[in-house]
Amino acid sequence: MAKIKKTIKTIKVDADKCNGCRGCEIICSSFHATPKYSSVNPARSRIQIIRHPLKDIWLPVFAGEYAPAECMGRDKYVIDGKEYEECAFCRAVCPSRDLFKEPDSGLPLKCDMCEGEEEGPLCVRWCLNNVLTYEEREEEVEEQAEMAEMEIGLESLINKYGLGKVADTVARMTQKN
Ligand code: SF4
Ligand code: SF4
Repeated sequence: MAKIKKTIKTIKVDADKCNGCRGCEIICSSFHATPKYSSVNPARSRIQIIRHPLKDIWLPVFAGEYAPAECMGRDKYVIDGKEYEECAFCRAVCPSRDLFKEPDSGLPLKCDMCEGEEEGPLCVRWCLNNVLTYEEREEEVEEQAEMAEMEIGLESLINKYGLGKVADTVARMTQKN
């Protein structure tokens, strides 16, 4: 099977340094507005800060894959004596919560690493506390595996929202770029 090079993009999160300023949410939502930078609405951000000031919890979480069904159970973490809310570290866009859903359409949001932005992810550049560090590395993967990944994602979106709505959204995003 043919192997292709894939760039793995990573944002390392040093959560202890986060003070909950939400600058990352502001720039992400503005970058993804239509037209670009025309509005600010943190509800549209692909990074969300899980905030519990009284417990000194400020946890940046990035929007990941769409999941059509919620898990059979929930996870809950306690780290250094701090108890995080259920599913706090989970990146999935799933029916159990409103996180990472486009406020008007309900469509799932996903971090795209600020695709098209030459100088890399904006949330990383806007974070003044050096919480976020961007890294890239190359890996060899099987071509077919990458295609299958893309198809699974598309199929679940079409199952939930219907082909028409997904096609409209893709057309809107293509115009935007
Ligand atoms: S910009 Fe940095 S410090 Fe501010 S909330 Fe985002 S990750 Fe935390
Ligand atoms: S990398 Fe870009 S798309 Fe992803 S959360 Fe940061 S600003 Fe948003």
